Amino acid sequence: MENDNVLNFENFTVWKSGDKVMDNVNMSVADSDSLLLIYGKNKGALQSILSLDIDKDIDLYGKIEYHGKDVVREIKNIKRYSDKDKNLMKVSEILKDIFVIQEESYKTMDKTLTLGEQIIDFIPYNARIHMLNAVLRREMISSKDIELLISNYEKYTDKEDFVRFWSTEYAVINKTNDIYHILQQDENKADRLKELLIFQKTGIDLANIVELRDFYKYMTDLNRNAENEKNKIDYGKSKDERKRFAFFKLALKLNRKGIEDVLTRELKRYMLEYLKFMGFTDDESILNVYPSADIELLIKHLFLAILIFSDSKMLVFDYSKNIKRFLDNVNLLRKTFGFGVICIARDAAILKTMPELFDYVKIIYYGSTVEDAPEGEFISEQLHPYSKSLMEGKKNIKGYYGKGCIYYKNCKYSMDICKNDKPDTINFNEKRSVTCFIYGNKNP
Ligand code: SF4
Repeated sequence: MENDNVLNFENFTVWKSGDKVMDNVNMSVADSDSLLLIYGKNKGALQSILSLDIDKDIDLYGKIEYHGKDVVREIKNIKRYSDKDKNLMKVSEILKDIFVIQEESYKTMDKTLTLGEQIIDFIPYNARIHMLNAVLRREMISSKDIELLISNYEKYTDKEDFVRFWSTEYAVINKTNDIYHILQQDENKADRLKELLIFQKTGIDLANIVELRDFYKYMTDLNRNAENEKNKIDYGKSKDERKRFAFFKLALKLNRKGIEDVLTRELKRYMLEYLKFMGFTDDESILNVYPSADIELLIKHLFLAILIFSDSKMLVFDYSKNIKRFLDNVNLLRKTFGFGVICIARDAAILKTMPELFDYVKIIYYGSTVEDAPEGEFISEQLHPYSKSLMEGKKNIKGYYGKGCIYYKNCKYSMDICKNDKPDTINFNEKRSVTCFIYGNKNP
């Protein structure tokens, strides 16, 4: 595998309650790719697996490789033991770069707490470290940082994107537009930026921020050790250091609200700014609501904002109706922060709403891949009869009867051979393939 950040599926097969929901799926998704997976039946199976919400009645075969590690083997270990043991940490560590937003994401939240009260629980440790480092940069900003900002701004082609990225890294996201306007001017840039950014310092106790950040680092390294026991990192080398963090952990248990208060306030500030950027109000009352289906779109956007700070390399989400605004924002943020996308949809409606979001399309019918194509080629010509019917918006209601082509009962092009024989997958090139007798039955 050339690129380590590739999610690689090899003959991946999933059985759920005696039903085969994925059959020998092969695909590679790099963290620069955006893939639309149209998956008529049981489309939640893949998200459940990637978010480690694995039912006892799911059986996995084949491979999912990520960072060169066999994820399927580790998931089987979770199932074999308990979901509380170190095996869960092992897989979480392998999959930490993959950020899954569920179709009904409000159900993953505590209904008795407001969004603002529980938001911190959804922030992974690496994202907390990232955010606290950004706060430290803001509080300690120097003339050198400002000079670098000015010179880097000149180098970037997409200047607006660069400024958004920079202001996120310096926890001054609320000043993105002001910074951008100053940088567009010819004169006194450095002085005007200094004046603006010095006033963003809040004077918070930096020692507390450093201690909290180092504690999260310590916890992250503990998880990493669980993932890779052979190469244990001797983090917290001295006994004193380990003691200090053990004490800090206890203090956090007793006074979590107080200790994490700075982080929670920064998080809220950051979330509100990103919500404003994504077209919501930045009034704090927007976070004073309880999770429910009515605010699903808002919750999806909150998770999207978390993704930016999580250093995640890939976003996995379900397409459901009425998420056009969410898709627009995924597209926008993907350009700035460079993450891959796997969107799982039941039909092809999203290709009419937002074709530009995707590089590739994969069509799965009854668990098997029937067509793979670059998005543009797929839109201009669908090869498989099922793909054509998807684009025509037709429903395919007749099931698979167990032999022959899986689409036989629905197919208006069916031939005698299709009834009892299974077609081979014909590969036209690395990215374009179809499984249908119309195109022959042997690879060249
Ligand atoms: S193999 Fe036959 S039944 Fe299956 S999709 Fe192609 S033409 Fe239709």
